[in-house]
Amino acid sequence: MGKKLTKRNEDYSKWYNELVVGADLAENSGVRGCMVIKPYGYAIWEKMQAGLDKLFKDTGHENAYFPLFIPKSYLSKEAAHVEGFAKECAVVTHYRLKNAEDGSGIVVDPDAKLEEELIVRPTSETIIWDTYRKWIQSYRDLPLLINQWANVVRWEMRTRLFLRTAEFLWQEGHTAHATEKEAIEEAEQMMNVYAEFAEEHMAVPVIKGLKTESERFAGAIETYCIEALMQDGKALQAGTSHFLGQNFAKAFDVKFANKEGKQEHVWATSWGVSTRLMGALIMTHSDDNGLVLPPKLAPIQVVIVPIYKGEEQLGTISDSVKPLLKELRSKGISVKFDNRDTHKPGFKFNEYELKGVPVRLAIGQRDLANGTYEVARRDTLEKETVPANEVVSKIEFLLEDIQKNIFKKANTYTQDNITEVNSYEEFKEVLEAKGGFISAHWDGTIASENKIKEETKATIRCIPIDAKEEEGSCIISGEKSSKRVLFAKAY
Ligand code: AMP
Repeated sequence: MGKKLTKRNEDYSKWYNELVVGADLAENSGVRGCMVIKPYGYAIWEKMQAGLDKLFKDTGHENAYFPLFIPKSYLSKEAAHVEGFAKECAVVTHYRLKNAEDGSGIVVDPDAKLEEELIVRPTSETIIWDTYRKWIQSYRDLPLLINQWANVVRWEMRTRLFLRTAEFLWQEGHTAHATEKEAIEEAEQMMNVYAEFAEEHMAVPVIKGLKTESERFAGAIETYCIEALMQDGKALQAGTSHFLGQNFAKAFDVKFANKEGKQEHVWATSWGVSTRLMGALIMTHSDDNGLVLPPKLAPIQVVIVPIYKGEEQLGTISDSVKPLLKELRSKGISVKFDNRDTHKPGFKFNEYELKGVPVRLAIGQRDLANGTYEVARRDTLEKETVPANEVVSKIEFLLEDIQKNIFKKANTYTQDNITEVNSYEEFKEVLEAKGGFISAHWDGTIASENKIKEETKATIRCIPIDAKEEEGSCIISGEKSSKRVLFAKAY
């Protein structure tokens, strides 16, 4: 603490890493690509989980838990799925260690080789659909609406705290339906639930859309997504919801008897958001002083810092603050009175600024005499003096106002950074000069998409759900196109 963060416009990724570590959110571990989520970071994740979990339950889903390990033969059953994940799987081959005969330490016991290797789940479609075969017989067993909170492992080569780690925490919904229509509606519903959570809880504006074939989930017919724009002009895929058709039902032989008694394969969806959302939250709102948190997800919403000399003054302040703490807590507002005498007020101010606490109160001798508090808001850094009898309503106002204000700011930024272009020249210019989302015509082919990716590193983030029909020609091939898609460089 005390050391200033690198500024965003000097080195955005350095700023990000310093902030994540400095604000006590997470740190790298001794395990390649795997992070330690620290208590303050985990408290934010718990608030995200609680908010999402409620939205899932409100839409009829239940939680369950499936094994961490997937037999290799299960993973191989759906061809596109295994093809997509094969390159990033951690594989368990043995189940025992032993002392090396030459005394050099512990080694894998070659006699304890598993008959069938186990894959540490990169996602759970296969183990879950193997289970659903036993759970689904008739149309009466459908729909099956299940979510799991879990960790997964994908052997990512380039990792970054929260944004891309080899092990990450997430939720994965897996649903089974009697009809195609119902499954598509479910996949769309969950994209909407994710968008609602991002915008209303995280205050992160998102664009809803469909992925192109090359960006689709391995084994999906259609991938819906929410995409957000970070302050450095790069996009982040914040959540995905997949319509899986009957691919997994066919691979795992999951059939149901319909109302006429005829056997049919079941229709499926899966959908997930991960600890990457923490990265989205951090990068959307934070500034050069540190984290800025939306009040709805802040573990500490209000901090009170006493300014005093000696125990007696602290005692007087503590007594005067007690009723305020009680009242705030009774209103469900999380408040911390930081009476540590090991740190100076200035140090505490910096610390809470770095940690993104939305509202900070300070109270010293003069405030005590005048019956006031100094109230500071984290988003704009504005300060004002507020009479003690108005401080609760002021805090309530600020918590709502900060939530709205940071969304508005991020939304303005996102809207200002969606640029329509009509030629490849213009595309490259905008990408170079300001980045952001670039809205352009594309002919719908993988070849054109790949060419743009190879030449510029920009990918198609999504075909926006609300894209208007519009005659145009592809920026790279000149072929006909009927709508614009959004390109960006992405995390
Ligand atoms: P997927 O199963 O590939 O559709 O991913 C589900 C969710 O997990 C998406 O919201 C991704 O953005 C996120 N995700 C994918 N890979 C990682 C990773 N290595 N670290 C953190 N989040 C990830």
